[in-house]
Amino acid sequence: MKIETIAVHAGHEVDPATGAVAAPIYLSTTFERDIEGTYSRGFMYSRNDNPNRQTLERGVSLLEAGETAAAFASGTGAAMSILQALSPGDHVLAHVDAYYGTSRLIREIFVRWGLEADFVDMSDLDAVKKAVRAKTKLVWAETPSNPLLKVVDLAALAEIAHDTGAILVCDNTWAPVLQRPFDVGTDLILHSTTKYFGGHCDVLGGIVVGKTDNEFFQRIRSIQYEGGAVPSPFDCWLILRGMRTLPWRMRAHSENAMKIAEFLARHPKVARVHYPGLQSHPGHKIAAGQMSAFGGMLSLEVKDGCDAAMSVAAKTKIFIRATSLGGVESLIEHRASIEGPGTTSPEGLLRVSVGLENADDLIEDLDQALG
Ligand SMILES: *Cc1c(COP(=O)(O)O)cnc(C)c1O
Repeated sequence: MKIETIAVHAGHEVDPATGAVAAPIYLSTTFERDIEGTYSRGFMYSRNDNPNRQTLERGVSLLEAGETAAAFASGTGAAMSILQALSPGDHVLAHVDAYYGTSRLIREIFVRWGLEADFVDMSDLDAVKKAVRAKTKLVWAETPSNPLLKVVDLAALAEIAHDTGAILVCDNTWAPVLQRPFDVGTDLILHSTTKYFGGHCDVLGGIVVGKTDNEFFQRIRSIQYEGGAVPSPFDCWLILRGMRTLPWRMRAHSENAMKIAEFLARHPKVARVHYPGLQSHPGHKIAAGQMSAFGGMLSLEVKDGCDAAMSVAAKTKIFIRATSLGGVESLIEHRASIEGPGTTSPEGLLRVSVGLENADDLIEDLDQALG
């Protein structure tokens, strides 16, 4: 089946008890035991498992063509479980342009608990080869990355990771459906389902998908229910509902972003546009090879730095000044001031999450804001 069909049907079946076409939400925290004390219906207690969580996990596994998945209360909770599945002394190699919260998690929490970590620019494969060590257990990629939209060659990275026996995880939050990390050798996929899966800025969530249900994944699974950072049944329901329109939304987000990137690239007040769909983008060729479209995220650098960038964001009328991404409404954000000290984001950079409004309206809005 094609991905649009999987997205609509995966994890869904007509409720056999009532004929309900939309799935019921199982708020029950606890489930009845059989007379002899077993749980033949498969559920015991909702932290361990819940019907809505199970259908979400099954749905996302089918969409990514993985064997298994574990859903969490946020993308960060999901990232945390992967890092917790490692052992003290293990070395993690992460992308320098990884999501700010992920690198902060590694630097501020996991290094204190004995993980060793290095950050390299993974769009530079020679730098990756130099940074990989014998004790590297995990290679953490994100592509396109945040906020510079750097593109990482996943197939090449998988080869380097596997040569030293490391697991390759790809944070695929920015390009669900458009990019198929398991097809190019990735072992684990992470999504902040808060973003495109949910798609409407109204639910937090995260999921780890395993290409194979191996021992490492079993550790993530046990961290899920022993650690307890699980999503609510309603959150699972919302995220699976969002997934049904995901392929079509990704197509529309990408189409709009491409038009806006082309407009910005010609604008005299804009110094640089970071969008992998542009021929001028250093990662364009690799992106064209590993993505079916270039996604809905882009960054622009305004000439004249921080104040000029803040003023553009202040003048937009349709774009909403807010962090996050992946919703139907377009958002604009000055990354450096959100990330604060230690940010690698250029001062004049604005990150844009292109929504599903008409591209002409968005372009007109940016044009008047740039002045
Ligand atoms: C938002 C985001 C996360 C973190 O997800 P939360 O749901 O906010 O915890 C991780 N990676 C990327 C790329 C993100 O955009």
